[in-house]
Amino acid sequence: MKCVSINTGFLYIPLADMFVTSPEVTSGTRLPKTDPVACSIRSLLITAGKRKILIDTGVGTLIGREILDYYDYRSEGDWEFLLEPYDLSPSDITDVILTHLHFDHCGGSVRLLRGSSSPEEVVLTFPKAIHWVSRVQWQWAQNILEREPDSFFEHTFLPIQETCKLRLVDKESEIIEGITVRIFHGHTLGLMIPVIRTGAETIVFAGDLIPTSVHLDPETGMRYDRDLKLVREEKKGFLAEIKSHDWKLLFQHELVSS
Ligand SMILES: [Zn+2]
Repeated sequence: MKCVSINTGFLYIPLADMFVTSPEVTSGTRLPKTDPVACSIRSLLITAGKRKILIDTGVGTLIGREILDYYDYRSEGDWEFLLEPYDLSPSDITDVILTHLHFDHCGGSVRLLRGSSSPEEVVLTFPKAIHWVSRVQWQWAQNILEREPDSFFEHTFLPIQETCKLRLVDKESEIIEGITVRIFHGHTLGLMIPVIRTGAETIVFAGDLIPTSVHLDPETGMRYDRDLKLVREEKKGFLAEIKSHDWKLLFQHELVSS
């Protein structure tokens, strides 16, 4: 099994939102933008025999201009371009594991039909892939739209179900040989964190539970966390486990220059 980290783009997130230590600060409305912190948005490409697996799909091309401008989003290219160095095209991807459905994690799962400008003609970016999402997150995302209008956009994930490519995950389990998912609820309900055994090592794709190395401090979360107290508890337990097994951590939002 081979893993390669792919940087899909950059977001500039207000410092006060990215690093939060007070549980009273809650997610929801946007704050005036101050002291932006550059954050990468990384995916992981895993090759396991005939299976080509992608963890998270980045922002994509169908998020509204206002949100993109607020975060000063910079794309590293579409998925055709991003997969080209690995001699792959989006139709080669067999599985997409979505840690959760916040726009910077699942927005790239859909695109407009080539040549179309109609929002009606949205298709899956990875048309042959099974898309794995936790059942709790799938239900949560549709019930929380009004309370987190800047985080969840149903046009980025409903087409997965409409095209029958959705596979819901009910519990922590090995969903693909060598890839076990762990499920957490502090950042959002049903956040799935993949733990990948490559043979040589074990890699934890830490997603929004531990988005940067600064968040290794269990007390530090993000304003986008649903419940910071719970994030702290979840992180303490999981970090102790990671340390005891000597697993490797991949920080999804740590800035990388590429
Ligand atoms: Zn998130």
